[in-house]
Amino acid sequence: MSKQYVYMFSEGNANMRNTLGGKGANLSEMTSLGLPVPQGLIVSTDACNRYYDASETIPEGIVAEIDQKLQELEVVTGKKFGDKDNPLLVSVRSGARVSMPGMMDTILNLGLNDVVADGMSKIMGSTAYDSYRRLIQMFGEVAMGVDKKHFDLDMDTVLKKYNIASDHDLTLEALKDVISKYKDTYLREVGTPFPEDPKEQLLLAVESVFRSWNTPRAKYYRKLNGFSDAWGTAVTIQEMVFGNMGEGSATGVAFSRNPATGEDELYGEFLYNAQGEDVVAGTHTPLPMSEMKETMPEVYDEFYKFAKDLEKHYHDMQDMEFTVERGKLFMLQTRSGKRTAQAAVKIAIDLVNEGVMNKVEAVNAVDVNVVDGLLHPQFDAKELEKVDAIAKGLPASPGAATGVIAYTAEKAVEYFNKGTSVILTRLETSPEDIEGMHVSNGILTARGGMTSHAAVVARGMGKSCVVGCQDISFNDKGDAVINGVIYLEGQEISIDGGTGFVYDGRLKTQEVEISEDFEQILTWSDEMAELDVYTNADTPKDVMKALEFGAKGIGLVRTEHMFFESDRIRAVREMILSTSQMQREIALRKILPMQRKDFEDIFKVMRELPVTIRYLDPPLHEFMPTTTQDIEELAVVMNISTTELREVIRSLHEYNPMMGHRGCRLAITYPEIALMQTRALIEAAINVTKELDVVLQPEIMIPLVGDVEEFNYLATKIRELSDSLIEASGVEVNYRVGTMIELPRACLLADEIAKEADFFSFGTNDLTQMTYGFSRDDAGGFLNDYYEKGIYGSDPFASLDTHGVSQLIDIAIEKARKVKPDIKIGICGEHGGDPKSIAYFKQAGFNYVSCSPYRVPIARIALAQD
Ligand code: ADP
Ligand code: MG
Ligand code: MG
Repeated sequence: MSKQYVYMFSEGNANMRNTLGGKGANLSEMTSLGLPVPQGLIVSTDACNRYYDASETIPEGIVAEIDQKLQELEVVTGKKFGDKDNPLLVSVRSGARVSMPGMMDTILNLGLNDVVADGMSKIMGSTAYDSYRRLIQMFGEVAMGVDKKHFDLDMDTVLKKYNIASDHDLTLEALKDVISKYKDTYLREVGTPFPEDPKEQLLLAVESVFRSWNTPRAKYYRKLNGFSDAWGTAVTIQEMVFGNMGEGSATGVAFSRNPATGEDELYGEFLYNAQGEDVVAGTHTPLPMSEMKETMPEVYDEFYKFAKDLEKHYHDMQDMEFTVERGKLFMLQTRSGKRTAQAAVKIAIDLVNEGVMNKVEAVNAVDVNVVDGLLHPQFDAKELEKVDAIAKGLPASPGAATGVIAYTAEKAVEYFNKGTSVILTRLETSPEDIEGMHVSNGILTARGGMTSHAAVVARGMGKSCVVGCQDISFNDKGDAVINGVIYLEGQEISIDGGTGFVYDGRLKTQEVEISEDFEQILTWSDEMAELDVYTNADTPKDVMKALEFGAKGIGLVRTEHMFFESDRIRAVREMILSTSQMQREIALRKILPMQRKDFEDIFKVMRELPVTIRYLDPPLHEFMPTTTQDIEELAVVMNISTTELREVIRSLHEYNPMMGHRGCRLAITYPEIALMQTRALIEAAINVTKELDVVLQPEIMIPLVGDVEEFNYLATKIRELSDSLIEASGVEVNYRVGTMIELPRACLLADEIAKEADFFSFGTNDLTQMTYGFSRDDAGGFLNDYYEKGIYGSDPFASLDTHGVSQLIDIAIEKARKVKPDIKIGICGEHGGDPKSIAYFKQAGFNYVSCSPYRVPIARIALAQD
């Protein structure tokens, strides 16, 4: 049997989302649950890929299959496509395997033309013409790329002519006028008349959905979320139902729970006598569901019941789209609802308590990217008492955000590239703004409800967002006017997405505490996870934060961070620029007590938990003085002339510092540096042991080892000094000496190194740059070309390359465990806190991942997720 490309709703189910798209699969599932779903057919994602294989034409076999299934739909509905007396109208809807809100296209009311509209008007009155004008506009915009403004202009002209306030109140005469204007516009802009042949309409619409898979905004959205370009979109062709049949009809979107707070209440918006995107377009102000409870109690109750049934069925909170046609409810979409971090956590706990979900599902239901928002600062409460808000809108996505105003997405990107934080401020957002939204700290819109584009996207990104802020208007220069005050682009404002308040200027923020519900999710996560989470932290403050967030150890203390502090940098420079060992030892003696104090402070916080301390790593040029003043001062201290000093600085210049004199190579040349660090570390450990009476677990980590002899040379010296200090002190210190694995050569020789080293920690940042052969600092300049040309899918520094770099890791772990089965292995690169990379680390044989303090809770959850 040949491959099937088109499916009836009755042939599908929720598990077929890869083939049918999320929307199609769930419509099939709702059909089999017996919910009132207008029936239809689904053209599969495979068909989309065939369309692209066939250089953007729909293969004939697939056209024939659509035809055949459309006939089946005619039988099921008892209507006929293109028939004037009993017409079947359809929507053509996009839907990939994952939801990409607003990224792709949908066209409603296909199957109408002059003759069908006249015929249909005999059955359903002016709704026929209302649907027809919508079709011409949507088809023109979506399938033919006509600019929306042309249709808007026509509409305005007609509304003025008949003195009508809104396009929802058009009279029959006005509707006919709109249709004729739209058709003229269509002809003028497209060059051919609006197609009267329904089959032609249908195929062009299907094609336009296929094409919308590859619009720049859809591609950008996929890149942002790491979705594959190869998935393709499905196309759902579904019988139309009509929310635009007067006051007893309506259309809306609703969540089964409040997506902002997690409260157990039906939460959504609807419009009477409306169709499709009217609710989310921001052009009409929608009504809350509570109003529907009053005016259409039966429909409301029925919908409520469906919402609860769907929650139980899918074991999760649902986001649903519906239409009421003359009092009859139809379900048009359901999917797992995007929610704020607060809501995510509350809903997960509630659903477990209600028996709808189990703990594993609850942990999996928490979107780790959104949870990020829970951990970030809020406005300082005291500060808030002192200031008045300048405006208030709807609290669409929580979190405190400050930044300068950008009125366009492009401007937001511009500010972002300059390192300035931004609040994207717009009348409303649209999918074209996606990149600007991504780079913004917060998003503020004058229009739109809780389900508007801005609100939905911001929640998905875990970004602070205030929408529907009616105190804001825009003057003809495009600047916002808030209560009579003009705000210019570049001016600072603050928004609170948890309350909806907008403030002038930059407000102070404060740290958040982890809620009880969140703690519960984290505890369940730890029960399920097999790896521990450590943290990368260099200061007692960061270490304390990480412990609060549940870190089980420190995976990386970067000792050079301590060197950069203003009071020490001079001694460090003195050490580096010394021309004799004596001079160097004098400088090191100055650094020793400071470094010892740093370690003591960290040990006191960590007590018996492991603390992995990496010895000096960066290329020396990073420490060099650059200003004349610094050079002159240093020359005096070192008792040499500035000319001499400049000469030394010049001699340290390297062409490729990242591959130069750094890591263990420094200590090989100057063992006294490693010995100073060892003395500081062991003496600190001894002091804290005596003070607190605990057994410490310091782990000494040598960076950038590529050969076991490098390791041995240093480890021998480090162990000798450590042992003699510890012996003399009479206390117990459980120290170990291990290495970073961050060079391809170290991976290939991991067995030799593992024989000697007490532990491994993979430095995946360096391993990535050394494996790819480009440096992180320079790659930004050309990687975009690689994404655009489809050569790389994503940034290997953000998510570990599980195709290439991971093979080196696999080799290293296998070799190491062969000679030392219980060797402790961790990862301390930036990837340690990245959920996607964590999916790989989980199965690669690591003992722990280490990440920055704010990523610790995210890593804990990610480690527990499937
Ligand atoms: P999106 O993916 O952008 O949400 P949809 O395909 O869900 O696009 O379509 C948007 C809206 O169009 C739906 O919420 C619904 O209101 C309306 N719509 C789609 N199909 C139909 C239909 N068969 N009958 C009535 N309205 C429909
Ligand atoms: Mg939808
Ligand atoms: Mg490194």
